[in-house]
Amino acid sequence: MRIDRNIKEKGHDPYVEGRKYPEGIHCPECHAVYQGGRWVWPVKPVTSGESLLCSACRRIRDKFPAGEVYLSGAYLARHKKEIENLIQKIVKDAKERSSQKRIMEIRQENKGLCVRLTDDHLARHIGDAVYRAYKGDLQVKYSDEEKFVRLYWHRDE
Ligand SMILES: [Zn+2]
Repeated sequence: MRIDRNIKEKGHDPYVEGRKYPEGIHCPECHAVYQGGRWVWPVKPVTSGESLLCSACRRIRDKFPAGEVYLSGAYLARHKKEIENLIQKIVKDAKERSSQKRIMEIRQENKGLCVRLTDDHLARHIGDAVYRAYKGDLQVKYSDEEKFVRLYWHRDE
């Protein structure tokens, strides 16, 4: 595994998690609620009062991921369904636990798959899980300026 901290291709991250939202505000899109300094799934749905798009929904609207995982190689082509299922399961569990961890898209790219996510930790988690389950080769590239990570997983044989 190689870790590289030199991605410098995007500007300042406008979705900084440290941004202050008013306590108790809800997201009109996904209905997460801002509580104790973070967006959480409410116990009871909140539909009244002030609303503001949460960070994850803003990223989805703007098509601005916090993490990307690229998967490629002949092994992927042979086991695509299985690997996709693993990714979907991780994404589903993450979203249930944390309102800001979502998948934005999973799409065919060249001969591989590209998975875009609203959360850098979730991207890392997916890369690690695929690597643990299927070995192969994993590269992790971090950006220092902002919370952004891109992972490349590859396996041929
Ligand atoms: Zn939202």
